[in-house]
Amino acid sequence: IRDLTVDAASTEHAEAIVQAVKALPNIKLLNVYDRTFNLHRGGKISITSRISLKSVSDLAMAYTPGVGRICTAIAQDPEEVYKLTIKQNTVAIVTDGSAVLGLGNLGPGAALPVMEGKAMLFKEFAGINAFPICLATQDTDEIVRTVKNIAPVFGGVNLEDIAAPRCFEIEERLRRELDIPVFHDDQHGTAIVTLAALINSLKLVHKSMEQIRIVINGAGAAGIAIARLLQKAGADKIWMCDSKGILSTSRTDLTQEKREFAVKAQGTLAGAMQAADVFIGVSGPGVLTPEMVRSMAKDPIVFAMANPIPEIQPELVSNEVAVMATGRSDYPNQINNVLAFPGVFRGALDCRAQTITTSMYLEAASAIASLVKPSDLDREHIIPSVFDERVATTVAAAVQRAARQDGIARS
Ligand code: NAP
Ligand code: MG
Repeated sequence: IRDLTVDAASTEHAEAIVQAVKALPNIKLLNVYDRTFNLHRGGKISITSRISLKSVSDLAMAYTPGVGRICTAIAQDPEEVYKLTIKQNTVAIVTDGSAVLGLGNLGPGAALPVMEGKAMLFKEFAGINAFPICLATQDTDEIVRTVKNIAPVFGGVNLEDIAAPRCFEIEERLRRELDIPVFHDDQHGTAIVTLAALINSLKLVHKSMEQIRIVINGAGAAGIAIARLLQKAGADKIWMCDSKGILSTSRTDLTQEKREFAVKAQGTLAGAMQAADVFIGVSGPGVLTPEMVRSMAKDPIVFAMANPIPEIQPELVSNEVAVMATGRSDYPNQINNVLAFPGVFRGALDCRAQTITTSMYLEAASAIASLVKPSDLDREHIIPSVFDERVATTVAAAVQRAARQDGIARS
């Protein structure tokens, strides 16, 4: 075999294929290509010009001396930057590489392929130019200062894969200090899609947000943001767990964000799960047992969202629950942020929102939920597909509407 092209989900799998081929009798393997690596070679995105440069006169307008007049116009009226530059349709995807996917603190270089991918999603789903910014610092003050210093180029900032609890302070400070939308996707993108999925799941089991007790396992970036948004959506019985168990008022080791959700109850996840209506997992692989699911209230709803391996394998309990969702594309009900962030930014940029408000999140969530028609809603279809073309435009419209109601739209 001269060229063997491997297409595998993991490096171990790719290696196994190569070994299996090598083990065949009378086979000499000359070259092995990994399709995933090939796809990344040279990077996945590039910058292109929107106008052509064919003549001296084109050049004189696009660059000097013509561009000087544009600079002067912006200097005289800073608002003109939105009309005369890329700013209104450009988003910075900012990471410090401290929480790359589920892989951990890999640093800024290793985070770049993820941010390039994210930039592709912004472009594909919402026509937004997004640029990866991977910072060589993990210091909160320095990150805040750096993002503020590069903000003039951008209409919005998407914070990505920054570890908790640092991510909370960074986002909060940037929101206060910048006049463009700042959105930490691992928090709010996840929270929006989770709320959308829960709104539709509750319709199936005829329970209301006010009625249910929710257990959120994982009190990091995703867990805290989900809890905050569900609370705004009317949920008031939320028990959260971290790696040490229930966030209880009796604990002395809780961060400020965790303390927000401390309850009187104490103990382990197993205890929290008894008679709970909803489980939302944003923690780690395999931490939920079938016994814990069996101890839940009638018609349990289980969102096991840890990636790539969920808190429980769906097939272990799917016949015993009312609804099962994961973060994976190979099971029904994929809870994926891509349903939210392209439309959120499209809407925010289109009305030049100064910031992003909670009502924009809530409206985005109900917009996503509303895309599943009552006649299509069933236990395996609680949220639209990530390839449903209506999603980004519907979310964008809802987000714009909320921004106008909140009085933060500038155009
Ligand atoms: P994170 O900020 O690192 O937070 C992880 C949280 O999980 C921490 O609170 C940690 O506890 C807790 N945890 C870890 N192991 C646990 C265990 N065995 N039992 C209980 N809690 C445990 O991470 P994140 O960004 O929030 O993401 C968490 C998980 O959710 C990841 O697997 C991620 O892939 C997944 N996720 C999925 C989606 C989706 O759309 N499907 C979106 C976002 C995140 P301590 O605080 O005690 O360390
Ligand atoms: Mg992320």
